[in-house]
Amino acid sequence: MTSTTPESLPALGICLEEYEYPYPVRFLPLTNDLQQVSMAYMDVPPGTEPNGKTVVLMHGKAFGGYYFRNVIEALAGTGYRVVVPDQIGWGKSPKPDLHYSFQLLAANTAALLDHLGVGEVAVLGHSTGGMTAVRFTLMNPDRVTHLVLEDPLGLVDYRTGIPPQSEETLYDHEVHWTDPATIRGYVKGYFVHPDPKVWEPLADVLVRVTLSADYPRWARAAALTFQMIYQQPVRYEYPHIAPPVLLIVGAEDHVVPLGQYAAPAELAGLGDFIGLSEAAVSDIPRATRVSDTGVRAHPAPGAPQPVPGRVPAVPRQLTRLSRAFSMEVQMSVSSGETQPVEVGPPPYYHRSDCNICRKQDGLKTGSVLLDVPVPGGYIVESEHFLAEHAPLQESSAGTVILEARRHVLDFGEMTPAELAEFGSIAHRLVPAVKAATGVQRVYLLAVMERAPHFHLWFVPKKDEGEGRGADYLAQRPPLTSSYSEAEAMSIKIREQFEQS
Ligand SMILES: [Zn+2]
Repeated sequence: MTSTTPESLPALGICLEEYEYPYPVRFLPLTNDLQQVSMAYMDVPPGTEPNGKTVVLMHGKAFGGYYFRNVIEALAGTGYRVVVPDQIGWGKSPKPDLHYSFQLLAANTAALLDHLGVGEVAVLGHSTGGMTAVRFTLMNPDRVTHLVLEDPLGLVDYRTGIPPQSEETLYDHEVHWTDPATIRGYVKGYFVHPDPKVWEPLADVLVRVTLSADYPRWARAAALTFQMIYQQPVRYEYPHIAPPVLLIVGAEDHVVPLGQYAAPAELAGLGDFIGLSEAAVSDIPRATRVSDTGVRAHPAPGAPQPVPGRVPAVPRQLTRLSRAFSMEVQMSVSSGETQPVEVGPPPYYHRSDCNICRKQDGLKTGSVLLDVPVPGGYIVESEHFLAEHAPLQESSAGTVILEARRHVLDFGEMTPAELAEFGSIAHRLVPAVKAATGVQRVYLLAVMERAPHFHLWFVPKKDEGEGRGADYLAQRPPLTSSYSEAEAMSIKIREQFEQS
């Protein structure tokens, strides 16, 4: 075992015995493949007046239910009961050597719901959990009211581009996958803009289990579940999925399970989440797709990397993505309701009917100005504010919009911390826009007529266009910019801002 990081973490048992989950964990005894096993799960009651609905969350391959903390919090906070199993082979559940199948995982989940007295459910599956969720839905068509798939694996039959691998090969890879730096890099790769506060604790769990004396059993289960993903496609059965499906995919996500064994020419197609999800929604009878240009949400080992220097369009992290899940789940699950909901954990409390909130959470808004990649990505990402290039259709290159992360109308509603940060950002952003564009004046404009969510325009007053002052701002047609001009200007302004 190699060790390339200086810190020494304590070993963690392969059932994450010493790892604290965000909510109480209980166990359901089951018989799987003639073996006695105990499935760990969290059953979180509504944190407010119950709405009578239950959501089941199905985790991905590298995690257990614990990483859904924010999603659970948001859903329970608006009245849902949330059931989160650690599937057999994952998390606090045992790691038996048995024949893993999505049918088995789905049957275990159904047994858990029976045990808990839960009938109909909405199901959310992330990554490998997306395959589990599809199989569960196909096996329980009368039980699943809504299916949400977030960057699901299984949008393609991986056997079409990857040769089969022996149990020995897969086990050998897993049991030697213990280098802390490699594991950290892998988990960090889940994020377009990695925040150590978010990814490091997730990586620590995977590093610590490699230090357990039982790690070979973990590695065996990990290898067997890779075989399950490879050998048990769900793709051909998409036309049989009965309930409405919401498919959320990230354009920056290129993960291919067992992609290291794929022919290089096959890799791009197997990990093309945008193209594959487009085909998927045409085969799923009642599907809606949301794509987010800034979401990776999956590591992409060996996958084509973004062009060096290219800044992802909408930097975003799993925590914020979780709020997107929650909002869409709430809207999807409460179909028919038109009441806007306050969503997400504090301090933001986004609103489902606000286009700026929706844009920040990576959701479609229906506005052509907002549903496009932000040229050059966010210029400022601070605790309380975001800044990005203004819409190309109504601004010259170098026009920046600074917006509150929280749904707040104006200065009067801001907290002292928000006001202080606003002042400090404006102090640096005005000179940065001047330096990048070469103008003498930066006009400031905040009207909040189209969205009642604080956003302030920083408009460089150029020699082009008509008039000065309000005439310049109000000219018709408005000044415009090309994507490449705006992208180059965003990068320049960010450089100036970061140097100030
Ligand atoms: Zn808002």
